[in-house]
Amino acid sequence: MLIVKKFGGSSVANKERIFNVANRIADEYKKGNQVVVVLSAMGDTTDELLEKAYEINPDAPKREMDMLLACGEQTSVALMAMALSSMGIPAISLNAFQVAMHTSSKYSNARFKRIDTERINNELEARKVVIVTGFQGINKYDDLTTLGRGGSDTTAVALAAALRADACEIYTDVEGVYTADPRVVPKAHKIKEISYDEMLELATLGAKVLHNRSVELAKKYGVDLIVRSSLNNAEGTTVKEVASVESMLVSGVAVDKDAARIAIIGLKNEPGIAFKVFDLLAKHNINVDVILQSIGRDDTKDISFTVDQTQAKEAVALLKENKERLTIQKIEEDETVAKLSIVGAGMQSNAGVAAKMFEALYGVGVNIRMIATSEIRITVLIDIENVEVAMKAVHAAFLED
Ligand code: ADP
Ligand code: ASP
Ligand code: MG
Repeated sequence: MLIVKKFGGSSVANKERIFNVANRIADEYKKGNQVVVVLSAMGDTTDELLEKAYEINPDAPKREMDMLLACGEQTSVALMAMALSSMGIPAISLNAFQVAMHTSSKYSNARFKRIDTERINNELEARKVVIVTGFQGINKYDDLTTLGRGGSDTTAVALAAALRADACEIYTDVEGVYTADPRVVPKAHKIKEISYDEMLELATLGAKVLHNRSVELAKKYGVDLIVRSSLNNAEGTTVKEVASVESMLVSGVAVDKDAARIAIIGLKNEPGIAFKVFDLLAKHNINVDVILQSIGRDDTKDISFTVDQTQAKEAVALLKENKERLTIQKIEEDETVAKLSIVGAGMQSNAGVAAKMFEALYGVGVNIRMIATSEIRITVLIDIENVEVAMKAVHAAFLED
């Protein structure tokens, strides 16, 4: 069997953890399996590198930023290969260039295009454990790129697909995917199986246990994912096409604190205005989520929407540049908001789910500022200070007896 195993930052944070992982890899290898390992940077390394860059140049060129951030993963793979070596297990570390893992050219948010498998296959044939850097790729200029925060999961899935691996295991610091972040909601419980679609919504809406692109790729290439702990042998969560258990009304609750709300006020109330606003944002690759339009005074209209905080400044600047053309009188930006979402495939055939969610929020006195829904999710925008109490109340309403 060919198995891809990915270990996150906390799982390789120090010497003890590195040897803990090395032992798990060695056990798999000794069973006669071919093992490809994907590693993240140790502990908080990526955050520390970001801070260092900020001290030198708060507006650093994105190319240099990726050059820097890619260092974290390179440290991990080299140390892991050394650890395995010391245990008598033949191992080789490879970075994105050596593999080669080709991505789009967009620094800090690159997407995989193609992965060469020859080098890895040769090393596996030679009975080596192959340890690959997560999170990084190379673009058409032969520059290093990174895949966005949490992107090592995506490296693992992309490799599993390219190598046609028999299994793809994501090892982390919790025992699997839970009905909510177990660090925020102590009553959250582990989910045995979850569909790609539900997992994709949860990951996109803030459940950082998996990078959302990794779920997208897993669905596209039919890679079953197992999420489990690197610290014990508890059975984890399987992410696959259709979970065999009957569709849950609500499978999970997620929170995204990195949202910003932008309000544009006093627009002319005429056809084409919304189109012009969102077309402008789309052309600059700014992702808009929850949208609310309301009629203001004097037959004007106001539009509020959310974007990721990292894109808020750019969005506001664009709107300012186009203020006249878009007939905007005033622009407001607010980062003290959070998105709270419930996700569940069973929602599509059940009335009253939204009402029940709103009732739970009413019960703890949390005001809803905006609402968005799809077939399998409901998202509300709330004040960031209410996140914990709101999350616990909504979790209790749907996921606790
Ligand atoms: P890694 O470094 O292994 O990639 P991450 O920190 O990226 O780990 O992801 C694991 C963390 O995700 C957990 O520690 C947990 O706090 C958080 N998390 C958020 N939502 C969920 C959820 N629904 N289920 C499990 N963990 C979650
Ligand atoms: N080291 C990167 C990050 O911290 C990638 C990852 O951990 O998946 O975002
Ligand atoms: Mg992660």
